[in-house]
Amino acid sequence: MSKLKRIIAQKRFLRKIFEAKGKIVNDYKKCVYCGLCEKVCSVDAIAVSKDQKTWIIEDNICVRCTHCVAKCPTKALTLQK
Ligand code: SF4
Ligand code: SF4
Repeated sequence: MSKLKRIIAQKRFLRKIFEAKGKIVNDYKKCVYCGLCEKVCSVDAIAVSKDQKTWIIEDNICVRCTHCVAKCPTKALTLQK
């Protein structure tokens, strides 16, 4: 197996592990778009705009570390299966 194919296979394997943990869900009724979750995310999976009141997560980047869940001041975020 080439080095590139091995890296791709490893990434797919890790992705399956992350996805098995569930995904981060935002209860938009509680979200105040403060951007704290965006700041604590080490892989830049979240993008928040307070002006436009948008919250976007890239599930294919998120590693389900739940740092954003722990830091959200309004408990808007949860890890759900
Ligand atoms: S930390 Fe919580 S309240 Fe703030 S933008 Fe993120 S989800 Fe919304
Ligand atoms: S769970 Fe971790 S990786 Fe995923 S969005 Fe939250 S802080 Fe980022």
